[in-house]
Amino acid sequence: MDKVECVVIGAGVIGLAIARRLAHAGREVIVLEAAEGIGTVTSSRNSEVIHAGIYYKAGSLMARFCVNGKRALYQYCASHGIPHKNCGKLIVATTPKETEKLQSIRAHAEANGVLDMKVLSGEQARALEPALNCDAALLSPSTGIIDSHAYMLSLRGDAEAAGAAFAFHTPLVRAKARGGKIQLETGGDAAMTLQCDLLINAAGLDAPATARQIDGMPAEKVPQAYLAKGNYFSCSARAPFSRLIYPVPEPGGLGVHLTLDMAGQARFGPDVEWVDHIDYAVDPARAERFYPAIRKYWPTLPNGALMPSYSGMRPKIVPPAIASQDFVIQGPREHGVDGLINLFGIESPGLTSSLAIADYVGEVAGIEGTGV
Ligand SMILES: Cc1cc2nc3c(=O)[nH]c(=O)nc-3n(C[C@H](O)[C@H](O)[C@H](O)COP(=O)(O)OP(=O)(O)OC[C@H]3O[C@@H](n4cnc5c(N)ncnc54)[C@H](O)[C@@H]3O)c2cc1C
Repeated sequence: MDKVECVVIGAGVIGLAIARRLAHAGREVIVLEAAEGIGTVTSSRNSEVIHAGIYYKAGSLMARFCVNGKRALYQYCASHGIPHKNCGKLIVATTPKETEKLQSIRAHAEANGVLDMKVLSGEQARALEPALNCDAALLSPSTGIIDSHAYMLSLRGDAEAAGAAFAFHTPLVRAKARGGKIQLETGGDAAMTLQCDLLINAAGLDAPATARQIDGMPAEKVPQAYLAKGNYFSCSARAPFSRLIYPVPEPGGLGVHLTLDMAGQARFGPDVEWVDHIDYAVDPARAERFYPAIRKYWPTLPNGALMPSYSGMRPKIVPPAIASQDFVIQGPREHGVDGLINLFGIESPGLTSSLAIADYVGEVAGIEGTGV
């Protein structure tokens, strides 16, 4: 049986950032990935937004990692030449009742350490985005967008340069934790057995199922997995906006918002559709709910402009009746298994938080060394 210090399950953005972090700290690392390459699942099915950290519950891991991760991500993009744009975002109130909510959103953001939000009058907002219908708006200057594929390629390159190895088409099949060591069995073309001192379960949607494959991991500590699909529509018309446009959130969701890709192309969504199996097809009929929502802030959206685009699955660990969840990162203190760290429920803002999450995992593993 081959022996290695650290094994990371999953080469999504989270597994990649962790592998880089561990390799930079001088650890021997192998990343096991079931798919044919990096970032083929949720990490390539998201909005590619660098979130500011506005809405997350104060004191939550999401709030902390988003704000710290955003800072680290902008620095990383600048130093590694990753295409990104600090374009900013407007949260748009279209009625006086919504306008009343803007101050409390700003206060919430401030409690999370997001100190740069500005309330704008309708006129001030239209001076920035002339096509906007709004009563007032909240400007988030630190929100941005990133080429997530270039980012993941760079993380992989950094990890490999520091000695990490990648095994694709190599799913973890089962593992056994005993006496501080973890024995692993993989499937795939080159099935192998391995022994490691540190196992990181960064399997995204499959993280709960993967934890259940580890003999020794207490079943009651593994959360139930749920799926909340997010559907996107693209727009055949050129959207006349240079910032991301979000409505004032309603209970249960952020509302139908407009994000931009690095080429300036607009997409709308994601909405929230709870499902019980993975099917990424987007139902064109869902556009009917998008049109009226978008026209509140962009009244001239042409008829027929929305086209079904792609979707992603949020790795939920709470059922639909519970509005929000936090990231769950379990080390031996939480589950009692030496050498095992599980990451559950890494939904948005996971991309923004990736470098901060990797640092935290390094801390939980008791590893000193440089982070970002
Ligand atoms: C609709 C949507 C929009 C989002 N928008 C944003 C956004 O704008 N900004 C932001 O910050 N975040 C956003 N997110 C969140 C972000 O995309 C995720 O937090 C992040 O991609 C999660 O990465 P991951 O590495 O945990 O998971 P994944 O990318 O899913 O990677 C997990 C990997 O594990 C592999 N795997 C699974 N099981 C096994 C096994 N047994 N053996 C080996 N490999 C295995 C899978 O093949 C996969 O490659 C969004 C998420 C969704 C769903």
